Amino acid sequence: MLDMRQVTKVYRTELVETHALRSLDLHVKEGEFVAVTGPSGSGKTTFLNIAGLLETFTGGEFTLDGENVKGLSDNQRSKLRNQKIGFIFQSFNLIPDLNLFDNCDVPLRYRGMPANERKLRIEDALGMVGLGSRMKHFPAELSGGQQQRAAIARALAGSPRLLLADEPTGNLDSQMARSVLELLEDINSQGATIIMVTHDPELAARAQRNVHIVDGMATDLSVEPSLSRIRE
Ligand code: ADP
Ligand code: ADP
Repeated sequence: MLDMRQVTKVYRTELVETHALRSLDLHVKEGEFVAVTGPSGSGKTTFLNIAGLLETFTGGEFTLDGENVKGLSDNQRSKLRNQKIGFIFQSFNLIPDLNLFDNCDVPLRYRGMPANERKLRIEDALGMVGLGSRMKHFPAELSGGQQQRAAIARALAGSPRLLLADEPTGNLDSQMARSVLELLEDINSQGATIIMVTHDPELAARAQRNVHIVDGMATDLSVEPSLSRIRE
């Protein structure tokens, strides 16, 4: 599904050069559920943004679902993103002046989906996260946990092949966090590949695979028993 080889990302400003990714190698198979951990500033968000085709990279090779990303134009990248990728990002917040239904509708409209199919998918997705009775509510009328679940519904409505999540349970109490995780596990068991950045070791422990990013490089903890022992 996702294959990154020696991917580098350099942010250049007039005075400084930041090497956010130094030489990141990561291969994620279709249907995997991968948790990404790592210290603050290690490159996790940069990695997710590149994986989600929101940002370009400086060097290396990146293939997403068989497409060589390097050769794509901006338009082709947006198209691929809209077709295949769902985001649960804090920066992708709900739009305050749209109700939940319309919030979920934005990415589907963008994909040019017919109205009747959009309606079915949105009702289904909001139902799955337990917000079926809140479709006409606005984000401000919901708790933080409900907003988080609405953002998940928006991602689910598009049935993404690849779901990228950045701290999906970050603002939730532990019970809500568990139900969100169960939801992600459901989607995963239905075939979606999931890559989730988290600071929560308990959450990371439930993923199939743990990848640790340090200094812009990825280590697979699942295949490095000595390292995972150190982590424990
Ligand atoms: P990001 O998507 O960049 O992680 P956040 O708003 O979640 O955005 O966090 C801003 C910065 O704080 C990031 O560099 C992130 O890695 C770091 N950060 C967020 N939550 C935690 C946490 N619980 N512990 C340590 N660092 C954190
Ligand atoms: P994490 O998500 O692990 O906290 P980030 O990917 O957000 O890490 O950041 C990795 C490094 O790249 C950090 O040193 C950060 O300051 C830098 N960085 C991230 N985004 C930018 C940007 N747009 N411009 C310049 N530097 C950036």
